Amino acid sequence: MDCSVSETLVRLLLRLSEAGEPAVLWGRQAVPHVGRNFDRLLERGILVEQAPAEEWDVCPACDCGLDARPIQTVSDQSVAVCPFDHRNDRILEACDLQSYSIKLVALVRKIATASGFTNGPSEILPGMWHLGQMTDRRELLLAITKAASQQPGLIAKLRLLIPSAQVTMIAPVLSVTELADLVESGIHVVRTEECFGSISDRGFAIDFARLQQSRNVAPRLSVQRAAKIVCLDGHPKILPDQAFQLLLVLAEHALESSGILENRAIEARLWGSNIHKISSQVREPVRTLRDALATGSTDPKAVRALIENRHKPNGYRLVLAPEEIELAP
Ligand SMILES: [Zn+2]
Repeated sequence: MDCSVSETLVRLLLRLSEAGEPAVLWGRQAVPHVGRNFDRLLERGILVEQAPAEEWDVCPACDCGLDARPIQTVSDQSVAVCPFDHRNDRILEACDLQSYSIKLVALVRKIATASGFTNGPSEILPGMWHLGQMTDRRELLLAITKAASQQPGLIAKLRLLIPSAQVTMIAPVLSVTELADLVESGIHVVRTEECFGSISDRGFAIDFARLQQSRNVAPRLSVQRAAKIVCLDGHPKILPDQAFQLLLVLAEHALESSGILENRAIEARLWGSNIHKISSQVREPVRTLRDALATGSTDPKAVRALIENRHKPNGYRLVLAPEEIELAP
């Protein structure tokens, strides 16, 4: 279970809400956050304490045949009892028995108020909330669930509902295709976790400075897929076909994750999964790509380092943040 204190309560609640209701915060997850702010969420009905657990998961690989094992009190301790073998009994702490249901509507209202929106937020589509207009006159949307940003016909529906062309949407992590559709239609998408303050900030207010920052970052890399045009830091680059494909694969991956893309995944994209290649052969197109990007650059060394190689697992990644990458059709 995730007990990390590096995540703020608002980020934790938003992450747990991504799948929609019922969204549950387990007592053990709540432990690092309990205190006055936490109590206030209970008072305001954003969190509702549920009845203490009376059942617990059966032990792994148990033959007891139960769906759940009963929790019993044994000498002042709560114990998830295995009816089959008492060596498998598990002593539970108080927080294990506690859970809170997260009320999504109340959570959205809290975020809107804390962020200074005075007119209440409105749910314009299932899970898609219009929080209001920001000081730069852009309309701000919050997709509280993943499903909200994945609903069919979303872009057309939004155009009807919000005639303003200037829309920013806060949304959970989306796939490259989902993101590309929104970005191509001119919607500025910011990942939920990027919009709220760090651990020192216990508030529920959207960090507008960060939101603005992600907008102001000019893309360093711009790729026009069909025309096979690549621009890095404003300079057009000429890439051989395979190097272009490699860049595309790495750029698409970088939009989704800052992690490494393994050689086998790269090979499968470049040569198809049926071709047997020794892994060192990715090196060839990597070298070509680095050379092509570095040509005519004022800092060739830094540009070459944008294609970073790693070991264990062996692979590569493009060292650019999602907002620095622009992929056009
Ligand atoms: Zn058991």
